[in-house]
Amino acid sequence: MMTVPLDRSYADQLDAADDLAGMQQAFVNLEPDMIYLDGNSLGRLPRAAVDLADDLVRRQWGERLIRGWNEGWFDLPERIGAKIARLIGAAPDEVIVADSTSVNLFKLVVAALRAQRGRMRIISDDLNFPSDLYILQGVVDLLGSGHEIALAYSADGIHGPVETILSLLDHNTALLTLSHVTFKSGFLYDMKALTAAAHAVGALTIWDLSHSVGAVPIDLNGSGVDLAVGCCYKYLNGGPGAPAFLYIRRDLQERLINPISGWMGQRDLFNFDLDYAPTAGLRRFLTGTPPIMSLALIEPGVDLILAAGIERLRAKSIAQTEYLIELWQQRLAPLGYTLNSPRDPARRGSHVSLGHPAGLGIDLALINELNVLPDFRAPDNIRLGITPLYTSFRDIYIAVERLAQAVIEQRYLKYQSNRPTVT
Ligand SMILES: *Cc1c(COP(=O)(O)O)cnc(C)c1O
Repeated sequence: MMTVPLDRSYADQLDAADDLAGMQQAFVNLEPDMIYLDGNSLGRLPRAAVDLADDLVRRQWGERLIRGWNEGWFDLPERIGAKIARLIGAAPDEVIVADSTSVNLFKLVVAALRAQRGRMRIISDDLNFPSDLYILQGVVDLLGSGHEIALAYSADGIHGPVETILSLLDHNTALLTLSHVTFKSGFLYDMKALTAAAHAVGALTIWDLSHSVGAVPIDLNGSGVDLAVGCCYKYLNGGPGAPAFLYIRRDLQERLINPISGWMGQRDLFNFDLDYAPTAGLRRFLTGTPPIMSLALIEPGVDLILAAGIERLRAKSIAQTEYLIELWQQRLAPLGYTLNSPRDPARRGSHVSLGHPAGLGIDLALINELNVLPDFRAPDNIRLGITPLYTSFRDIYIAVERLAQAVIEQRYLKYQSNRPTVT
């Protein structure tokens, strides 16, 4: 492995050569000295969203009132969905924005299981986001048809258990569902290969793109993916609790039934018919009235990703995670930090987890004393989110220095007992 220079001027050189460096100006930054490494959990606020929020509240809501529905609100789920489609290799009419990731997953899991009658197995892994597993458990309980969830376990907690997943796939498998990038270690699955393996036994796939959309190039159509969901408040910078999106491949759209059949998915909804009849296309997977304020505010963040270009963002993300890992090796490994993410950039998303026995204490010392904001995922992962739209090489350099400082000065000792609600 090459060794990178350990001085700050090298980070400054990398920033000077970075043609995406100017993009950080597009975001609100009220604390220039704070190193924000949590864009994988809650993206920064785009400046354009501030103006849009003002227009939404004062003019669109305050002045236009109910007329707003015919002046753009009604079509927003599809219009923003079509923009997200460009980031994930889907056709414009295959993506719609609605509800939360968890609720969208519920809808798609139920729809997929109903379309796969007679097949009883659902496959996932132990690296998946717990909410996704809770949704699966809830659906199995609700349907009461005897479905079984077969979980594949990662051998090291870092790499996805690909071989086990392949061995679990059989003709009784209804569904394979995984996070494309896993939330703790940042492992990146080979979507195309696993989708092909699932299809070979007649199983459907649902990919959760929450930790990959906006960070990693995704080709849902090229990978033959059936169904997908994803989050808009992480790398897409859509704002806390922004609605999520769902994808249904076009040829499946008329076959699948939305289990939460509400009036927003009804054909000719203003006829107020007493019997549900789903409308054509993806709108049938809407349920109730969309939260227009938070839905509309997703668009500025998506526009910034489209403007930067996902291939350029990925190239910078790999350069930055590699830089971070090389600094870890030289500076942090001797202090007891372990690399809890894949070493191979081709198998890694855009965040890097470092483990340390005093992980939570270090995380709290960074936040409270050292002006670095990562997050923490039990048992020992300090997650460092690289968001190439606004993370600089200098940010990474300083974060590594402070990670070292937290251990050398034993700053974690103070925080051994009090765990905050949100880590
Ligand atoms: C962030 C994330 C979610 C978020 O779900 P919500 O319904 O928005 O709370 C779901 N799944 C994965 C894999 C995630 O990373």
